[in-house]
Formats: sequence, C-alpha cells, structure tokens
Amino acid sequence: MLRAVVLGSRFGGLAVLTWLRRLFPPSDLHVTVVDQWEEMVFRPGLVHAMDQSPQKLVPHVTINLRHFWQRHKIQAVHDTIVAVDPQRRMVHTTVHPPIPYDVLYIATGSTPKWDAIEGLDRHRAGICEGYLARHTAAINQRQHQGRFVFAAGPIFGAPQWTPAIHVGCECPLIESALLWDQHLRRIKQRGQAEITVVTPSSQIAEMAGPAAQHTLTEILQRRDINVVTNAQYVRVTDTRLELRERTLPLERIIWIPPQGGSAWLTQSNVADVHGWVPVTDHLQHPRWPDIYAVGDIVSQSWPKMGHSAMVQARIAVHHWAHTRQKRKTPPMAYNPQLLWVLEDSPGEALFVLSNVLWGGDRERVWHHPIPYWAKQLFQWSYVIRAGALPIMP
Ligand SMILES: Cc1cc2nc3c(=O)[nH]c(=O)nc-3n(C[C@H](O)[C@H](O)[C@H](O)COP(=O)(O)OP(=O)(O)OC[C@H]3O[C@@H](n4cnc5c(N)ncnc54)[C@H](O)[C@@H]3O)c2cc1C
Repeated sequence: MLRAVVLGSRFGGLAVLTWLRRLFPPSDLHVTVVDQWEEMVFRPGLVHAMDQSPQKLVPHVTINLRHFWQRHKIQAVHDTIVAVDPQRRMVHTTVHPPIPYDVLYIATGSTPKWDAIEGLDRHRAGICEGYLARHTAAINQRQHQGRFVFAAGPIFGAPQWTPAIHVGCECPLIESALLWDQHLRRIKQRGQAEITVVTPSSQIAEMAGPAAQHTLTEILQRRDINVVTNAQYVRVTDTRLELRERTLPLERIIWIPPQGGSAWLTQSNVADVHGWVPVTDHLQHPRWPDIYAVGDIVSQSWPKMGHSAMVQARIAVHHWAHTRQKRKTPPMAYNPQLLWVLEDSPGEALFVLSNVLWGGDRERVWHHPIPYWAKQLFQWSYVIRAGALPIMP
C-alpha cells in the first residue's frame, strides 16, 4: 500500500489530509500526520484577544484533532519533527521510529523569530498562538489607558522572491488594532488611549491592491489610529520601541513576531538557505518530486494566509493523484491572490480579494455586514464541527 506522510496539522496540513482521503480510500493509501500538537487553534479567531475575556477566547477556537484523525482513518504521530531524509524517503522525529513515505506533504508553517529584534520576547505578548492571545486578553482586561503599539515583525524571505515582501502577517495585526479601538469605545475608554500600527512595509497592507489600501487608510484615519510604515526595528523595551528613524514611547506593545523559515528543513536539504521550501506552481519540490509543500512554509511571496494554504493543498494533492493515475487531468497551477476578511466593527467587515501584487488586475473591496457573517459562518463550520473541514475552496 502507498504511504502518504503529512507534516503539520493546521490549515495546510488538514486540507491536505482531507483531500487525500477524498481521493484515496484507506484501502489504497495509508496516511500519517505528524504534529507537535494534538489540538489546532483556529488562528483567525485569536484577534478577539482584543475584545473577549481569556476564558471565552481560547475554548472557542480550539479543535481537538483526535476526532478528525479517527474519522478519516489517519495515523497521528504526536511528536516534534527534526529531519527529513529525501533520499531514503524518511521523516525523523524526536522519539518515534523513522516514518517512511511514498509522498510527503510539508505544511509546517513559518517560524516566529523572537530573537531577531533586541529586547523582543514572548513575554511582550502577541496574538499568534493560543497561549499568547490568552495572555494578551488577560492584560487587556486591566489596562485600557496609555499608548498602545501594534507591531508587525519583518519576514525574512529569500532574496529571489518576486515580488519582494517585507511583512508576512500584517493583516491580523491591523484587525487587532481596529478591534481594540472598538472595544475601548464601547467601554468609554478610547479618549485615554493612543493606538499606533507599525509595519516594515512601505504601504499598509502591502499584499492588498491600491483600492483596498485606500479604503483601509480611510478606516484607520477615521478611527484615529496612527500608522508608521517602513519601520526598521532596532530595540524594544518596556517603555519604548526604537526604530532606526524614530522612537515610539509606549505603555503596551502587541506583536506579530518576525517570521522565517525552518533550520531543520534547510539541514534536511529540502529547503533553501533561509529555511523555506521551494515549489513549482503545482506545489511540488523542484528537486524531490515526491515532496510537496503548502501554506506559509513555501519559498514564495504568495499570501501567507489560511485561505492560500487550503487552495494550495487541493492543487498539491490533485497533482500527486494525477501523477499516480495518469488518466486524470492535471490541476490548474496555483495563482496567488489575497482573500482577506477584516472584522473592523460590530457586524461589519472589509472583504478584500486581490491579485494585483502578483501582476493581476483583479481587485474587489467591499465593506459590508455580509462578509462579517460569512466569516462567522466559516469559523463556526470549521471549529464547531470538530475540524471536519466542510468548506473547501
Ligand atoms: C492572529 C492570526 C490571525 C490570522 N487570521 C487569518 C485570517 O483571518 N485569514 C487567513 O486566511 N489567514 C489568517 N492568518 C494566517 C494563517 O493563520 C496562516 O497563514 C496559516 O495558519 C498557515 O497555515 P499552515 O498550515 O501553513 O501553517 P501553520 O498554521 O503555522 O501550522 C503549522 C503546523 O505545523 C506544526 N509544526 C511546525 N513545525 C513542527 C515540528 N518541527 N514538529 C512538529 N510539528 C511542527 C505546528 O505545530 C502547526 O500545527 C492569521 C494568522 C494569525 C497569527
């Protein structure tokens, strides 16, 4: 029987697993997933650290994956991956025996580089993982006054990325600042607070097109949220953020940390020197054809978003199915486009669909209650139905 191994079990990995099981019954394909966590945190929900209690926040966005794995007849290995041997087609973890594969899907995401900026550490709080968001939500309950800085770290991409990008995960940071503004207005504390968003990109929301950037700039201005672009971080302390050009005094700072690739993937000879996995337009490794990568880990300046990871997963699995069963037509190549729904006020959201950064001419921007409710419905179906992934792009 053929063996598929999937590394990582969040947006990218879960979508790969779902498609593998849609195309290959358990009698034809043995599927193993390896992840260091048995629970998935639905990260888009973590922005509500800004307006929800810590007790309410994390249970609402946590999926116990055991049901998902059992239902789809997937063998789960709960361990830390340390290496891939592409010549022997083996995955090595810290305690389990080596895991052989016929096809390997890498969906291990990007790595937070907390040590890339002097003074930056997890204790400065953030929203990227459940434990960080819970901590942020707890502090938010007691501190409503002062200067609040929302800082996006740079992405350490590979020099050949075209177009170049400067920040990997700015969207949730902007959403968090808007939700914090809204929360402070609701509890009548906004007058005591100053909110600033800091980004290394030259333009807010660099992956969106000009119409979305214009709308977003207007929203931020209307809500009295300052924006600092082209930030070059030097140092962060309890009371200030030092940039190359200026220093911002602060009482609180909320981070999306700098993002990079994974050293263990580079050491395994499957990633570039920056730790990102190179792929073709069908998400296949150019050197090792039985390896695919999807999601944030790919060595491309494609949107590092859950939606992209899910689209890429569908293409990668169909591509492998095509190589196994020659009669099936090959899937379309991946075409990067940003799909982003930003909750900015109660019952309303900004919908952005854009491929302008990648040379296209498509841009849709819609500020309306419908995107808000569509996002709620998506989250509900993803999380409440225990990771069944009923909605596939
Ligand atoms: C606060 C926040 C809000 C967001 N909001 C949105 C949104 O609204 N819409 C959207 O589209 N995107 C959003 N994103 C981006 C989205 O979450 C990511 O793009 C997406 O999670 C990437 O999925 P992935 O599967 O590639 O990687 P990840 O989600 O990073 O998953 C990687 C998995 O691999 C596992 N792993 C990694 N290394 C190892 C190892 N060595 N051993 C074992 N396991 C390992 C990890 O445990 C993890 O489970 C948001 C991100 C954040 C931080």
